[in-house]
Amino acid sequence: MNAFRIVRIPILPLQMVNAHLLIGPNGCILVDAGIPGSEKKIELALAQERLTFTDIKLIVITHAHIDHAGSAAIVRERSGAPIVAHEGDAKHFTQEEAMTFCPTGWVARLYIKTPVMFRPYRAFAPDILLRGQETIDLSRFGIEGQVKPTPGHTAGSVSIELDRREALVGDLVASGILLGGIVRTGRAARPPFEDDPHAVARELDRLLASGVETFHIGHGGPLKAAEVERHVRSLLLLPPALEHKRCCGGSHSETLVHSAK
Ligand SMILES: [Zn+2]
Ligand SMILES: [Zn+2]
Repeated sequence: MNAFRIVRIPILPLQMVNAHLLIGPNGCILVDAGIPGSEKKIELALAQERLTFTDIKLIVITHAHIDHAGSAAIVRERSGAPIVAHEGDAKHFTQEEAMTFCPTGWVARLYIKTPVMFRPYRAFAPDILLRGQETIDLSRFGIEGQVKPTPGHTAGSVSIELDRREALVGDLVASGILLGGIVRTGRAARPPFEDDPHAVARELDRLLASGVETFHIGHGGPLKAAEVERHVRSLLLLPPALEHKRCCGGSHSETLVHSAK
């Protein structure tokens, strides 16, 4: 019971972008796949654990942003493992539809001007698509926990909630500066983009109420419960989510759709 380990994969240095491995007795689960070209970093992290791509039994993509989904297609090819994701982001994985990018501050507005986030990545259709409130139990991998929908950062964001009071939450909360990481990695912050801060607050609150003490995240971290609690209170002071058009405009989104072909 609970004989599994969480290993952080440094996709970029200084914890700017993380993926994670859950290494259990029946193989391992990759949580997020990093930016395009991250397969070497993932392979290296596996090798350090004396594992190879074929030890990956499941790939969970927390949401469709390029820094989490960018190498999903190639990792699926190398590992043969199915990809799990949520239908809320389905048309973004296949790049049939542009993503919403609601900036949370000046860094994100800068990214929108130099649209690194909007580069196309290799499109893919998830093998297992969670619908609505559907969850996946991970006990068959020897990992006591579930993949659950946690919408807010994007409509299709999911998290892995572990029975041992830890969770891997993607970008539901971030830490650090600029894109994330670098310094202040133990202090919660909003990620550069966030669709609906109040929905995020609801999900984080639910995770805290369920007893999660450690949050593993895509940028910086991990974060302790007290820090996430402070962050939830600050999110609740924000105005409700803006309309898509007001928060993100459209030009970069069109770029994504066209260049994905
Ligand atoms: Zn994101
Ligand atoms: Zn991210």
